[in-house]
Amino acid sequence: MRPSLLDPLFVPITSLAGVGPKVGALIEKVVAVDLGDRAARAGDLLFVLPHTVIDRRNRPGIAGSAEGAIVTLDVRIDRHQPPPRGNRSVPYRVYAHDDTGEIALTFFHAHASYLEKAMPEGEHVVISGRMEWFNGRPTMVHPDYIALASEAESLPLVEPVYPLTAGLSGKVLRRAIGQALARLPVLAEWQDGAFMRRQSFPAFGDALARIHNPADPIDVSVDGAAWRRLAYDELLAGQVSLALVRAKVRRLSGRPLIGDGRIVERLRKALPYSLTAAQEFALAEINADLADPERMLRLLQGDVGSGKTVVALLAMARAVEAGGQAALMAPTEILARQHLATIAPLAAKAGLRIAILTGREKGRERTDALAGLASGEIDIVVGTHALFQETVIFHDLVFAVIDEQHRFGVHQRLAITAKGDAPDMLVMTATPIPRTLVLTAFGDMDVSKLTEKPTGRQPIRTVTLPLERLDELLGRMVEAVAGGQKIYWICPLVEESEEIKLMSAEDRFASLKPLFGDRIGLVHGRMKGAEKDEAMRAFKQGETRILIATTVIEVGVDVPDATVMVIEHAERFGLAQLHQLRGRVGRGDIKSSCVLLYKDPLGETAKRRLSVMRETEDGFMIAEEDLKLRGEGELLGTRQSGTPGFQVARIEAHADLLEAARDDARLILSRDPELQSDRGAALRLLLYLFGRDEAVRLLRAG
Ligand code: ADP
Ligand code: MG
Repeated sequence: MRPSLLDPLFVPITSLAGVGPKVGALIEKVVAVDLGDRAARAGDLLFVLPHTVIDRRNRPGIAGSAEGAIVTLDVRIDRHQPPPRGNRSVPYRVYAHDDTGEIALTFFHAHASYLEKAMPEGEHVVISGRMEWFNGRPTMVHPDYIALASEAESLPLVEPVYPLTAGLSGKVLRRAIGQALARLPVLAEWQDGAFMRRQSFPAFGDALARIHNPADPIDVSVDGAAWRRLAYDELLAGQVSLALVRAKVRRLSGRPLIGDGRIVERLRKALPYSLTAAQEFALAEINADLADPERMLRLLQGDVGSGKTVVALLAMARAVEAGGQAALMAPTEILARQHLATIAPLAAKAGLRIAILTGREKGRERTDALAGLASGEIDIVVGTHALFQETVIFHDLVFAVIDEQHRFGVHQRLAITAKGDAPDMLVMTATPIPRTLVLTAFGDMDVSKLTEKPTGRQPIRTVTLPLERLDELLGRMVEAVAGGQKIYWICPLVEESEEIKLMSAEDRFASLKPLFGDRIGLVHGRMKGAEKDEAMRAFKQGETRILIATTVIEVGVDVPDATVMVIEHAERFGLAQLHQLRGRVGRGDIKSSCVLLYKDPLGETAKRRLSVMRETEDGFMIAEEDLKLRGEGELLGTRQSGTPGFQVARIEAHADLLEAARDDARLILSRDPELQSDRGAALRLLLYLFGRDEAVRLLRAG
C-alpha cells in the first residue's frame, strides 16, 4: 500500500487550482514521466523541470540599459496615454522615469482598466522585460512583469523556463507546479549524512524548491547541487529497484542446467564455420551461468554481424540437454522468422524440435505450437511479443533469450520470466551500450562481449552523396546488378506518419521499377506477413536484386551476399540506426559499400553524423558519438521507463554518482533486504515518488 503520507501528491492534476480538463491535458503533454494509461498526478508536476532560466537580476537603470537586454527597473509612473478612441492600431503608452531617465512602456490592444490598476500614476512600480531603444528613446513593449513596489517579491528575478506546448503558458504551469510543491510532505532523509555533506546536497524538498524557484542560474544547472541531489535520488531509486528485482530473481532460482553435450556436439558439426574466439568465450561464460544454481541475468553485447544468434542457439541447446525448454524472443516478426530460418536447418540435424509463435500463426499451426510447448514436445520456440500471451504455457521453460533487448521494456522482460520456474535469462543487443547505461538500465547485470567479428569480413566503403546526384548512383547500380550484386535501398524515416513512410517506399519503388523491372522488390511494415516473407525470400534467393524497404529490415536481417546499402535521406536517421543498417552488408567475401544519400542543406548534427559514418565502422565509437550528439535518454529509451529525467539530462555528467548509487543500493539491500529500517521506509517513499512502484510490489510479494 502506498504510504498515506504521499496521498497529497497522488491526486489528479485537475484537482489543482487553475487546472481544468483543458489545461490538464496540455500539462500532460509536458510531463516528463511516461504516464501509460494513467492520468497525471500532482507528484508528476514536481518533475517537470525548467531547462534554463531568464535572468532578471540586471538592474542598470533606464539610461544604462542596453538594447535587447532583459532588465528589471524600479520606476515611478508619470502618466498614461491611451490611444484615441476607436483607433486600436495606436498603442497604449505609459510613461515612467527613474533617476537616470524616462521610459515609454508600450501596449498593443491593451485593457485600460487593467493597466490603470497595475500602474497607478505617481506610484512606485517594478517592471521587467526586454529593453528596446526606439529612435534613441528607451522603450519596453509588453513588459513580462509589472508589480507594485510593495509586492515586488512576487517578481521572479531568476525565472525558470519550462518546456511548454501550444496553449500552455509558463505562468499557468508555474502556478500548478507551485501547488504540487506545497503538497510535498516533509520526508525523513534517506541519504547518508556524511555523503550528503561531502556532496553539499540539499534535502530532497529543498532541492526541488530550489530548482523551481531558482535564486541563481546554477540552481537549474545539471552541475548545481540541487540537480545533482535529485539525479542521485533518481539513480538510487533505479538501482534499488533493479537490485530488488535482481534479488527476487536470484531468490527464486536454484536449478543448475548441466548438459551432456550430445546436442551441442551435433550442432557444432553442422555449422559451416567454426566459432570465433570471442564467441567461444561468451558461450563459456553463458554455460557457466547455466550450470550455476544462481539464476543467470546476462547481457550479450556484440556489434551487428558479430554472430550472436549462433551463441544463443548453442546455449539454448545446452538448456535442452539439461531437460528443459528454451525461448528466443525477437522484437519483430521478420526477425523471428529469420532466426527460425537460421536455426531450423541446424536444429533438424541436431534433433532439436523447434516451433515459431508470432501474431501470424493462427488456427492449426498455432494450436499445434501451443500444445507442443505445453507438453514439452517442443524444445525451442522462436517468437515475438506473442509469447507473452496467457495462452502460452510451457512445460518447463528454463532459459529465455531476448534479442535486441532495447525494444522490450522491463515489464516484458519480467513477463517472459513468469512463464517458467525462474528461467535463466540472456538478453542480446547490437547497440553497444556504455557501461554507465548498462548500469542505469539493468543494474549490475553480467556482461559478455563479442569483441571481434567472424574472419573474412571486409571493410565497408561508405560514401555520402547529395540527392541531386542520384543519377550517378543509378548508373552504378545498373552495373552492379548486371554484375550479380544485391542492393538494399532504405527509404526515409518519416516520424510523423506511417502513411508517408509507406508512400515514400512505394514511390521510390515505382520510380526505379522502369530501370530494373522484375529485379526489384519492395517490403514495408504494412504488407501482410506472407507478402513480406515472399519479398525477403525472393531477395535472399536472388530473384530480385534490389530490395526497397522501410526500416522494417533495420534490425538483424541476414542476407550474406548483399553488397550495397543505399540509405535515402540518411540525414534523418540517428547514428545507431545508420550503423545497424550498414551492418546488413559486408557479410560475405565481396567488397561492400554503403551510400548515404542526403538532402542539402545539412544541419550541424546531421553533418557530424554522416562524417562519423564515413570515418569509422567501430560500433563502440559510433555509440559514444551517438551519445554525445543525442543524449543518453533516447539510446535506451529511458525516457519511456517512467523516470522523471534528472539523470537522463546528462548521465555522463553524473557517472560518478551512478557508481556511488549502485554501491549504495547494494549496501542498503545487503543490510536491509526488505527495506524495513527507517532509512528503508524512506527509500520506499522514494521508489513511489520516482514511479518505481513495481519494485515495492516485489517486496510485498516476498
Ligand atoms: P548478429 O550478432 O548481428 O545477430 P548474426 O547472428 O545474424 O549476427 O550473424 C551474422 C552472420 O554471421 C550470419 O550469417 C552468421 O551465419 C554468420 N556467422 C556467425 N558466426 C560466424 C563465424 N564464427 N564465422 C563465420 N560466420 C559466422
Ligand atoms: Mg541478430
